[in-house]
Amino acid sequence: MGFDIRKKKAFVCDLDGTLFMGPNPIRSAVDFVIANTKNGRFAFYYLTNNTSKCPEEYMGKISGAAIPVTPEQILTPLITLESYIREKGYRSVYLMASEKVTAHLAARLADAGVRFEFEPERNELIALTYDKELTYEKLRRACALWNGRNVSPSPMCPVRPKNQAPIDFVATHPDNCCPSEHGPIPDIGGMMRFLETTNGMKPSHVFGKPSPTLLAPVLARFRPEDIAVVGDRLYTDKAIADNAGVDFVCVLSGETTPADLKAYRGTPPAIVVETFDRVDGGEAAG
Ligand SMILES: [Mg+2]
Repeated sequence: MGFDIRKKKAFVCDLDGTLFMGPNPIRSAVDFVIANTKNGRFAFYYLTNNTSKCPEEYMGKISGAAIPVTPEQILTPLITLESYIREKGYRSVYLMASEKVTAHLAARLADAGVRFEFEPERNELIALTYDKELTYEKLRRACALWNGRNVSPSPMCPVRPKNQAPIDFVATHPDNCCPSEHGPIPDIGGMMRFLETTNGMKPSHVFGKPSPTLLAPVLARFRPEDIAVVGDRLYTDKAIADNAGVDFVCVLSGETTPADLKAYRGTPPAIVVETFDRVDGGEAAG
């Protein structure tokens, strides 16, 4: 048992608290990633639940710290959403997202002929992202679509278009808040609650950490025992590792403290280290 780095081929890295503290790189951790990217010892992936940005925008933060990176190494729930739309064969999606993210998904799914417009007669899916350009009108349209398809007609909700199947609804991740230099600010959780409070609408799927679907591109390339997730949050980073059946490297450079680990009732992380670079020669937990 324990953690044997010689058996690992791929690390899936959380960013905030693991490789960065706010805008600043955690130097020793970043240097470890740079050295082992250049020598090809490990494959690195970068994990974020934040769907307010496109993968290309995340590359800026990582390459800004001098880490060589390609878009394929960025794991965001936007990839899961794209796969979900393809698998379901949806062609008309009401997407709640920033203009940039909408353009990104439209380009990615152009080959499948997917339209991202508000089309009450055609929409098959309502997809909610961390939309920093959210407006009342977007929320109103989402509720109107849901009411027209998924709510039995009543005096309170008299809408029922002819011959239409129920509409699906998904959210890209579950985060209630986004950490910022001003403390917690609204993320997608409040947006979901806003909708649910209005008419009871709830997503059929919530992607992102801790859902293991986010690791699908890594699990397609490596065996679970070859992979480790590295992160600073037990309830998201460790949860996704546990859900995917891969090792978890807990770093103490972010949110989790030694006292949190002591109080933690789940299975212990495979290894606990001060900073990610210490995984090379750190002590196995347990
Ligand atoms: Mg983190």
